[in-house]
Amino acid sequence: MEKTKASLVVMSHLSDAQECIGVSMSQATANQHINFVKYLIFHLGGNLTNEIDADDWWNRFLKSATNIPDKCKELYEKNGMAAVFEYAEELISNGNNVTYSNCKPCETSTPHLFGECLVCGQ
Ligand SMILES: [Zn+2]
Repeated sequence: MEKTKASLVVMSHLSDAQECIGVSMSQATANQHINFVKYLIFHLGGNLTNEIDADDWWNRFLKSATNIPDKCKELYEKNGMAAVFEYAEELISNGNNVTYSNCKPCETSTPHLFGECLVCGQ
């Protein structure tokens, strides 16, 4: 496994994000790269001087991001909307990129991840 200085990994993903916005106009992919940078900075405690395995971190990031909607669906079915809100608070305090915005089907402000409502999945 190859190790790269964390600050270079951050620069590289920010460049990817810029390219997505400027060339392919893919806002979702650009956001994913930016979210990865946030995830990395958070989990490294802001220290970008160490060498890290960039691929390993990227895979961990993708895995954590794709598991969240499934977990929320399960929580909602078992314990209702309040359980999803509670979990969302935990995710936010752990540095995940969950944000609140208005959801039409839910008729209220709900936690979202990558533009998807974590309560109803819309
Ligand atoms: Zn919703």
